[in-house]
Amino acid sequence: MLLNKTLEDLKNSLKQLPGVGDKTAQRYALHLLNSDKGHVLSLADSIKQAVEKHDNCSSCNILSDTEPCPICLDNSRDGKLLCVVENTYDVYLLEQTGDYSGYYFVLGHLLSPMDGYGIDEINLSQLAKVVEERDVEEIILALNPSTEGETTITLIAEELGKNNNRKITRLSTGLPFGSNIEYTSSVTLSNAIQRRYSIT
Ligand SMILES: [Zn+2]
Repeated sequence: MLLNKTLEDLKNSLKQLPGVGDKTAQRYALHLLNSDKGHVLSLADSIKQAVEKHDNCSSCNILSDTEPCPICLDNSRDGKLLCVVENTYDVYLLEQTGDYSGYYFVLGHLLSPMDGYGIDEINLSQLAKVVEERDVEEIILALNPSTEGETTITLIAEELGKNNNRKITRLSTGLPFGSNIEYTSSVTLSNAIQRRYSIT
């Protein structure tokens, strides 16, 4: 049986979610219709409220329901450190480690001119301004070790690495914990041997 227009629209909206393909989207759409109407409408309302109340912080671009965001307002953080990430989700992941106490800057996208994401789309001039204004001493590039990530890292290092008093670092790209060398890709193994560190 074919889905009617309303259900087809719902399915297509659900397909925008990460990891949701055609079949899963159809299952979710029918599941929502079969569920308690009150619960589903309350879910729809929560989504609406969250989307309407959140915007990018004007300083760091983190999605926040306050302006500026709570991290930019937190004076107890280490102002010498600025961690550059692709999106707000990465900020949550880094915060959960409990190992970082500096500020953040969200690029929004990685550099990928073929897909329409050039220098202007990754907010590079805004990043340069924040780095100057905050007198940052270390910029940590916490970006994906992918082709786009590497291109972005190279560009930022070229643009912001001219100041000798400022350090630019990147996350190590070694072997993941619990992994097995036998099943590691040669790129990962190559990175791991190049970025080896002393244990004595
Ligand atoms: Zn902020």
